[in-house]
Amino acid sequence: MARPKILVVGAGFAGVECVRRLERRLGSDEADLALVTPFSYQLYLPLLPQVASGILTPQSIAVSLRRSRRYRTRIIPGGAVGVDTKAKVCVVRKVTGEVVNEPYDHIVLAPGSVTRTFDIPGLADNARGMKTLAEAAFIRDHVIAQLDLADASHDEAERASRLQFVVVGGGYAGTETAACLQRLTSNALCRYPRLDPRQIKWHLIDIAPKLMPELGDKLGLSAQKILRDRGIDVSLGVSVAKAGPEEVTLTDGRVLPCRTLIWTAGVTASPLIGTLDAETVRGRLAVTAQMTVPGRSGVFALGDAAAVPDLAKDEDGSVCPPTAQHAMRQGRAVADNVIATLRGRPLKPYVHHDLGLVVDLGGRDAVSKPLGVELRGMPAQAAARGYHWSALRTNVAKTRVLTNWLLNAVAGDDFVRIGFLARTPAAMRDFEYTDAYLTPEQVREHAAAGHLQQE
Ligand SMILES: Cc1cc2nc3c(=O)[nH]c(=O)nc-3n(C[C@H](O)[C@H](O)[C@H](O)COP(=O)(O)OP(=O)(O)OC[C@H]3O[C@@H](n4cnc5c(N)ncnc54)[C@H](O)[C@@H]3O)c2cc1C
Repeated sequence: MARPKILVVGAGFAGVECVRRLERRLGSDEADLALVTPFSYQLYLPLLPQVASGILTPQSIAVSLRRSRRYRTRIIPGGAVGVDTKAKVCVVRKVTGEVVNEPYDHIVLAPGSVTRTFDIPGLADNARGMKTLAEAAFIRDHVIAQLDLADASHDEAERASRLQFVVVGGGYAGTETAACLQRLTSNALCRYPRLDPRQIKWHLIDIAPKLMPELGDKLGLSAQKILRDRGIDVSLGVSVAKAGPEEVTLTDGRVLPCRTLIWTAGVTASPLIGTLDAETVRGRLAVTAQMTVPGRSGVFALGDAAAVPDLAKDEDGSVCPPTAQHAMRQGRAVADNVIATLRGRPLKPYVHHDLGLVVDLGGRDAVSKPLGVELRGMPAQAAARGYHWSALRTNVAKTRVLTNWLLNAVAGDDFVRIGFLARTPAAMRDFEYTDAYLTPEQVREHAAAGHLQQE
């Protein structure tokens, strides 16, 4: 009898945890495992702002999927561009561009999320996200290029626009990005003696009235004070009205000369979810507490892409927030439920009590709330770095990150620009491949065409 095929889509926190658990707990004669992923690494996203600011090298947070000989999953290099849950076919565009059908018996959808954008004039072309390794590396190069160009310019207006930076989104991703990059540009002053420190200006803006509301009022205000003391202009209750290549217009009427707009105003589920034509909750695929998709046999979904009911909260209808903490644990829980399905056992609901949040603001600055305990300064920094370090999957990644932290503490920042995509217009849609997906009709046609070919 043919072994059932389990196809996991996405090698992030959720997908990799799921695959590793399946490899450990399923006998090789029980099922065939395959993983669709455009990259051969698992990205440790929470440390992305430290790659953008050069504290860490990109490689140190890209954890290899092929470190061990024990891994037996077939890795398909490409992205899923649609899923036909009736035909049980996943349509995959390989990294070569070739589009193929991957039939499955059970599919685990863990494609994560993409940057959430709004219909703001100029945003799609002029803003960059902080969601992929390429975006972080690009932003680093771009920021250093602004310092280099401002340093060389005699034009006051040009210097002003190159030395103002706007980050939109006061969640942890935006706050950490603004804090780490501001530290980089202020440390740059000793290497760029021609620059006027008063001209370098960072803005962090958010339409919400508070930064990182999940930290609570007191810690949120502490974070805000740290940023303001460092000279970052924090504007709350404000958003972007218009984005141009050389200026950003805010909703409060201010026009900021600026050539760096970093957009971290939340995430939305991967466009892959839309190809299923299934029920969603604010864009995330609606799933049961067991992470199955109602009415679609053999389909599981989790992580940022799915609205997994948060059973640890009393409120009706609350769903787990899109965090790595949940995604990893859901990955393990979904693997157990896939195995239970194969063995005809009952599925278990996912329950996890949030462990809190850590926010690294660079240097000795941090705010953290592990298990409800409010920490600031060095204890918060120790909690933040200790948590991330221990959560990295491999010893090689742990060693790389620790070495990079030590090196940065001893030798300071460097300002090497590698010329990455310097002359190529690179928008969020290019970095996050949001244009790559098929419509549900195209998916059905593709799945049917593949079926005919096989016959
Ligand atoms: C800057 C930043 C800081 C953060 N800090 C924290 C933090 O401190 N703590 C915390 O808990 N969370 C943090 N998060 C959130 C956390 O990273 C996400 O919630 C988590 O990564 C979600 O896991 P996931 O597996 O669902 O998605 P991801 O980890 O994003 O993985 C999705 C994977 O699927 C792949 N993929 C996408 N589309 C396809 C496709 N069509 N086909 C195949 N593969 C696909 C992607 O390449 C990726 O590898 C942060 C996020 C960011 C951006």
